[in-house]
Amino acid sequence: IDWCKASNLQGYAPICLGLEDFYLRRLYLRIQDCFNRPISSAPDAWFDVIERVSNDNNKTLKRTTKISRCLNLGSYNYLGFAAADEYCTPRAIGALKRFSPSTCSSRVDGGTTTLHTKLEEYVASFVGKPAAIVFGMGYVTNSAILPVLVGKGGLIISDSLNHNSIVNGARGSGATIRVFQHNTPSHLEKVLREQIAEGQPRTHRPWKKIIVVVEGIYSMEGELCKLPEIVAICKKYKAYIYLDEAHSIGAVGKTGRGVCELLGVDTADVDIMMGTFTKSFGSCGGYIAGSKDLIQYLKYTCPAHLYATSISPPAAEQIISAIKVLLGEDGSSRGAQKLARIRVNSNFFRSELQKMGFEVLGDNDSPVMPIMLYNPAKIPAFSRECLKQNVAVVTVAFPATPLLLARARICISASHTREDLLKALEVISRVGDLVGIKYFPAEPKKQ
Ligand code: PMP
Repeated sequence: IDWCKASNLQGYAPICLGLEDFYLRRLYLRIQDCFNRPISSAPDAWFDVIERVSNDNNKTLKRTTKISRCLNLGSYNYLGFAAADEYCTPRAIGALKRFSPSTCSSRVDGGTTTLHTKLEEYVASFVGKPAAIVFGMGYVTNSAILPVLVGKGGLIISDSLNHNSIVNGARGSGATIRVFQHNTPSHLEKVLREQIAEGQPRTHRPWKKIIVVVEGIYSMEGELCKLPEIVAICKKYKAYIYLDEAHSIGAVGKTGRGVCELLGVDTADVDIMMGTFTKSFGSCGGYIAGSKDLIQYLKYTCPAHLYATSISPPAAEQIISAIKVLLGEDGSSRGAQKLARIRVNSNFFRSELQKMGFEVLGDNDSPVMPIMLYNPAKIPAFSRECLKQNVAVVTVAFPATPLLLARARICISASHTREDLLKALEVISRVGDLVGIKYFPAEPKKQ
């Protein structure tokens, strides 16, 4: 309440997404009492309807009152392929004309075009695995594949901050689920040791199969997976490893091949590589890459392959074209430039935020940058004040994060210019002062 009054942010109340907490509701009512007015219905970056997007990572929001052009700091468009790319867009339009928006069929019932097979070949070779299978949705890739890989009598050991699609897939599998402390290899080892006697051959263990599930970059933390250590533990205890690269494929690594490339892990040591096309590739859908036998097995058994309409042909062409740009097959060096740019942009933005005194989670090179707000009441204030100054940021809270660890989650793109980033930093700094979220002393500015 003091904070609201002090920063003259009347009208903001703690919108605690999904919270039923007694005390927070009491606090909410007290704030309403204090200002004697109902909760503000000011616009924010959550529910605004987007009228159009442009290729420079700006988006136009349509609001009840006015339409404004915003710098988009919330999109997963890491490499800037998502809108009007000079190479990808004409090809996606070509695929639309040649194959229509939808195959209107499942893969096995006439829904496999030349684009689908080509996409699977490109994805497998790009991520460094012998074969791949693609799906129309990233979420479904996790939630439908895990139940095919493991079932009753099997064990899934999952990072405590894994994405909801993994949690749902694990729950739907019927396997026993154990959770290890987020990105903590020593705890993973402890859990594994509790479940099996060290060194016993796979056939003598109480579990038919053990799968350890981790993410390349954690979407709410911006943290890189401690993959080398986790791979070593999985080898030691003969557990399979399932790596979700939704946020890392295309976004990190010298040639965009994700965390294995960045952290020097041999892809042969990662049994199941999963990723989505909705981020770096600016399209939609998801993939699983692995051994030929694994992919063949999935093609014959996975319900989401057998019974769901195949990925849309223009979306497939968009992904193939984006991979071609990354490989330099478009005859330009744009791919390499994009990869260099996202790295420079991410590291610049992160270090500037830290210098200003913000608490920023995550690792260098990661384009995902959560700025800690802590107090859920600060969510609408931060989001709306930024939006007023034409900067759109995504704010996240419970149940996506623990109750009192609300944050703004910045996603940096290769399509952000240095000017964009400087403008965003200026706005975030002002709003940070207003809302009171600079938790560390700012570094003195160099003269
Ligand atoms: N895995 C992770 C780690 C994610 O963050 C997401 C969504 N952002 C998904 C899977 C689901 O992907 P999609 O949005 O492409 O369906």
